[in-house]
Amino acid sequence: MYPAAFEYHAPTSVKEALGLLGKHKDDAKLLAGGHSLIPMMKLRLAQPKHLIDLRKVPGLTGIKQDGNMLAIGAMTTHWEVESSALVKSKLAVLSEVAALIGDPAVRNRGTVGGSLAHADPAADYPAAVIALGAEMVCEGAKGRRTVKVDDWFKGLMATAVGEDEILVEVRVPVLPASTGAAYLKFPHPASRFAVVGVAAAVTLDSKGACSKASVGITGAGTKAVRAKGVEAGCNGKKLDAAAIEAAAQKAAEGVDVQADLQGSVEYKSHLCRVFAKRALTEAVKRAGG
Ligand SMILES: Cc1cc2nc3c(=O)[nH]c(=O)nc-3n(C[C@H](O)[C@H](O)[C@H](O)COP(=O)(O)OP(=O)(O)OC[C@H]3O[C@@H](n4cnc5c(N)ncnc54)[C@H](O)[C@@H]3O)c2cc1C
Repeated sequence: MYPAAFEYHAPTSVKEALGLLGKHKDDAKLLAGGHSLIPMMKLRLAQPKHLIDLRKVPGLTGIKQDGNMLAIGAMTTHWEVESSALVKSKLAVLSEVAALIGDPAVRNRGTVGGSLAHADPAADYPAAVIALGAEMVCEGAKGRRTVKVDDWFKGLMATAVGEDEILVEVRVPVLPASTGAAYLKFPHPASRFAVVGVAAAVTLDSKGACSKASVGITGAGTKAVRAKGVEAGCNGKKLDAAAIEAAAQKAAEGVDVQADLQGSVEYKSHLCRVFAKRALTEAVKRAGG
């Protein structure tokens, strides 16, 4: 399949890219790594008349520490996240998430910002950024604003980024002391997308009980969600095998699980419980529990 005809733009600043977005509005689409948008254009599920390529815009790549946050430029590739010494030392789970995405070709072109702006319901980062409490920085003509992750995912491939905005940075807190985090998924055998994936971050208090649990689920429904039942089931408890099992049983509660080509509602709900248990068990182990 060939995409519908479009005009290609290669701006060299965020300001220029925003000007093009403002001028062409609904007729324009931003291009990052192209690993979601180009297939959609070839299938004619997306037919932008103007394609605004962000690859020549400086300042949108790279990973740096800013206080207790890792600031990741939106155009940073999955491979850069996977291989970054800074991410490995401060937030190893994010490097592990990136390493589970697709194959080397996808990881060398696809970007963090592209994944989080596209918000594929089976993508990996969404579960992780929910569990880790990330923030998304969007830039528009009037300046920058920061969106907390709980306000980011709005629905099927819909996020809080405005049509006249660019997601420029993803800010992820480094793990606090006595905290462990893990992401585990049941991968689709062909694409490696998550049939269901669960990320968990667990903080233990001085007595070894859970003082904070944060759990994100991807793949189950139309968007990634916070597993509030699991979190409530963990908080204040000593997370031994029985407590983890009990909390994980709540993984599909309050989640609008959808049947699709990968599985029925019952099967995907089961995967939510199984992977919540596995992710929590690993997170507690990493927290020192
Ligand atoms: C074979 C294959 C296997 C894959 N497997 C996985 C997997 O296992 N797990 C997984 O999570 N993903 C997987 N992906 C998806 C991959 O991670 C993509 O890289 C990602 O979904 C989109 O990132 P991108 O940079 O390619 O964005 P693009 O395709 O360029 O853009 C995607 C969408 O986001 C918008 N956009 C991009 N950047 C910005 C921005 N900075 N601000 C605002 N809007 C923006 C675009 O306009 C477009 O609508 C796979 C893809 C392929 C082709």
